[in-house]
Amino acid sequence: MTTYFDNAATTILDPALQDEFWRLNQEVFANPNSIHSEGKKAKKTIENARDFFAQYLNCQSNEIFFTSGASESNNFFLKSYPCDLVITSPAEHSCVLESAKASKNPIHWLSLDKHARYNFAELEKVISENKDKKILVSIMFANNEIGSINDIQKICELKKKYANLIVHSDCVQALSKIKLDLQKLDIDSISASAHKIHGPKGVGLLYLNKKSQGILSLKNLALIHGGGQEQGFRSGTQNVMGIALFAKAIQIAQEKNYSQKVYELDKYFSDKALASEDIVLNNPSFDKIPGIFNLYLKNCKLKKEELVLQLDLNNFCVSSGSACSSLKGDAQIISSYVLRAAGIENTIAEKSIRISLSSFNNTQEIDNLFKIMQKLSANFATL
Ligand code: PLP
Repeated sequence: MTTYFDNAATTILDPALQDEFWRLNQEVFANPNSIHSEGKKAKKTIENARDFFAQYLNCQSNEIFFTSGASESNNFFLKSYPCDLVITSPAEHSCVLESAKASKNPIHWLSLDKHARYNFAELEKVISENKDKKILVSIMFANNEIGSINDIQKICELKKKYANLIVHSDCVQALSKIKLDLQKLDIDSISASAHKIHGPKGVGLLYLNKKSQGILSLKNLALIHGGGQEQGFRSGTQNVMGIALFAKAIQIAQEKNYSQKVYELDKYFSDKALASEDIVLNNPSFDKIPGIFNLYLKNCKLKKEELVLQLDLNNFCVSSGSACSSLKGDAQIISSYVLRAAGIENTIAEKSIRISLSSFNNTQEIDNLFKIMQKLSANFATL
């Protein structure tokens, strides 16, 4: 039996969604844009999900746009927001990095601390030096490789001082793990994805507050032109099932208190790692989202890809970094651009792997993983 410890890449569809899946499959199959009663039922299903997210995130329903995932949401916002300067971080997910570059806007890359968190003083300095420019700040809420949490509230507070600022945050790794109150944050835009929280793949959302909708002029900048769905922003027949299951996955996570379970597993894992002589955490106890560990085996000579493969041979799925980056096959990227941007030495970045937990894991699986890591350390010792 394989044990899955790659939950930052994607998660298993929650088995508790099965009943809802079959119900939707049988009862809500019509085109939500058809005017007959079955079409209206499908439309209502989408609008219920939208209302749920509005309540869950504390925003208006018409500020939620369903997309195919966070890559699409981030691409749209970064590429179409009209600005003179983008301020972002080199530790963002590739879909933000590449969209920022593709936008052709000038980019200021912030320097990072050793946990890949942005530098606030530098951010404010750049903003204050560019008061006459329209600035878009895009910083992820929580990092997908190292789990560190960025203080997004502090960035949003700068809007009181600098009116030329719009703030966007990739909230993929934070959704359902950290309480996101968008009113309180006073943020302009966020992205999120269903498949990281035990929902289906191919569904995500983009939150756009009224201010950013006004500036974007949605209909003119539509992502996909056609029948005018999603307020004219994204045409095409909506993924009714995916959208409904996305909302349901959050409801189940709340009912079953998944975040508490991951928190407890995180503590268990962390205590074991800190007590181990061979395991070194690149992200020891600091403010991080629960469940993501970035580590290396001190006395093991295996490079990260070799270690991932050895663990795979022993039936453990872990990761050598972001799954999307691995597609690029670029040696620089494979040695983890996030760790390197955080100033972690290349020799360590080359050995470091990511282990990410979910509420479907248990302590026995963690114990077994540690035994195998210990065995691999002995079998592939540096000396
Ligand atoms: N942003 C972060 C932080 C991620 O971890 C991911 C997924 O790997 C994405 C964006 C992309 O999300 P999606 O797969 O929904 O396009």
